[in-house]
Amino acid sequence: MNRRQFLTSSICGAATVAATASGASILTSCAGAEEKNTTELRISFQEGTAPGKNLGEKLDYMESMGIVGFEPWGGNLASRVEEIQQALSGRNIKVSAICAGFRGFILAEEESVKAEFDSTMRDIIAAAGELGSTGVIMVPAFNHQNPCKPHTRETREYLCEQMHELGEFALKHNTTVILEPLNRGEAHYLRQVADAAAICRDSKSAGVKCMGDFWHMQEETSDYAALMAAGKDYLQHVHIASRGRRIMPGEDGELDNYVEGFRALKQLEYPHYVSFECGTKGEREQTVKAAVELIRAQWKLA
Ligand code: MG
Repeated sequence: MNRRQFLTSSICGAATVAATASGASILTSCAGAEEKNTTELRISFQEGTAPGKNLGEKLDYMESMGIVGFEPWGGNLASRVEEIQQALSGRNIKVSAICAGFRGFILAEEESVKAEFDSTMRDIIAAAGELGSTGVIMVPAFNHQNPCKPHTRETREYLCEQMHELGEFALKHNTTVILEPLNRGEAHYLRQVADAAAICRDSKSAGVKCMGDFWHMQEETSDYAALMAAGKDYLQHVHIASRGRRIMPGEDGELDNYVEGFRALKQLEYPHYVSFECGTKGEREQTVKAAVELIRAQWKLA
């Protein structure tokens, strides 16, 4: 590297660190010095996102929009494996992740509630594997779930041990378990992406992953730093919604800026999905289409 190349890359590096939402123009000016990022934005929808009277109609709509992922709810997933496989057959849409659906919770004090989690979660993991899912999303404990183990160091160690077992079980089924941090209004136990990533690391299983949800990431000081902290090793899924009312991206106007987070995903060459988890206040046909256009445009900017 000669002196000129060094300066150019340093300036771009500094710009990358300093850039916030307004940084797109700075990055563009460095485009000549960096290879063009070709990371694809792979959009996924939960089952309620697309308009349509049944799964077939929803998938038709998704296909017409170039949506490549489908995130079903995990409740009774084992009984739906065939239905979902058939519905996706011949389409360019794959199961992205499975959204929860288990009963009980992993940090339950009551043995019967923990046992219910263990058996229903394992059934969902096995079905997720059959469907080729990247993983099954879970929350260690919602605020309303009581009695819950106390928020102590011992509980964290217990969680890591339990996650290790689940992760190893998931690997045997060619899938993973994905920890989802939520905002403090819903789950004070696990709120930030970096904390979830640290639990992945300490669980010592390649089957334990985490995700970011742009709605819950209001807890973060930086979307970019949060997703980079999870990095290639642990970041397995992303949820997206508007950032004021959790409706379609774009329905909350200027609040709905995902550029900084997308920049992290592009730099990570993130190979998984960005999945819609949101309602709408408008006409679904229009708001879904506008949301997809908005996030595609922001992906380009990032
Ligand atoms: Mg979510």
